[in-house]
Amino acid sequence: MKNHLSVCVLGSSSGGNSTVIWNDTTSVLIDCGHGPVYLTERLQELGLSLRELDAVFITHIHSDHVNETTVRNLHKLCIPVYCPAQIEIPLVKKYRSVDALRKENFLHTFTTPEINISEFTVHAFEVPHDSDGGCFGYWVIDESGGIKRKVSVATDMAEVTESAVEHMADSDVIVIESNYDAEMLEQSGRPIWLKDRIRIGGHLSNEQCAEAVVRIIQQSTNIPKVFALAHISRQCNTNGLAHDCTTSAVKELGITNVAIFETFPQRPSRIMTVRKA
Ligand SMILES: [Zn+2]
Repeated sequence: MKNHLSVCVLGSSSGGNSTVIWNDTTSVLIDCGHGPVYLTERLQELGLSLRELDAVFITHIHSDHVNETTVRNLHKLCIPVYCPAQIEIPLVKKYRSVDALRKENFLHTFTTPEINISEFTVHAFEVPHDSDGGCFGYWVIDESGGIKRKVSVATDMAEVTESAVEHMADSDVIVIESNYDAEMLEQSGRPIWLKDRIRIGGHLSNEQCAEAVVRIIQQSTNIPKVFALAHISRQCNTNGLAHDCTTSAVKELGITNVAIFETFPQRPSRIMTVRKA
């Protein structure tokens, strides 16, 4: 397809998170939480390839966002990896593969909120998810062909902040976490400390996700066309509950032309495409 900006969540769960954003000439991966075989196969299905990625952006240091073997492969392929400067030290301390990448100048850190990657401009914004060095969401702008398109990705948020809502407003496609159903988490056999860790500083519940979606829509002049619900817990949520919660909140706004998709732990989401012509 020509003249498009597309997004696919290749997989999203506590077992791995990776999202690819691409147009005719440029492709970037947000997080590389899956192994190289899985990523290579999923990218191939989309007509893309690991070796042709223009860049990989890391959101935070948790192991469902950084796969050591994949980083080693990226290194071999000379694919640049980017992260906000404040997570550099914890990242290289935790992952030998990232340290090796840094020693050969393939790890690029940034303090400015905006990085140009071929036809994309990538912006980082901080979210309160509890991770050493901090955690970030990204939005990607593609202005090629004179038409501006925007995609936002925030798979780990912890809380709906005003800042995150502002950053994600006016996107065409938004990937946002809808991690747990409050009742299922409460009823789960998980230890209390873990339940608390998920609720405070961890992840968004379905209700919090729905609230974020409503606030983003209210703040947008250009209302997003698609929301993809990510990081859906396998133990404390179902795709149906996550979908219904956000869908009914959007319906209450009287808005009908917003699509709500789910993502999956070990298979790709729908391809979400914004046409540019
Ligand atoms: Zn995390």
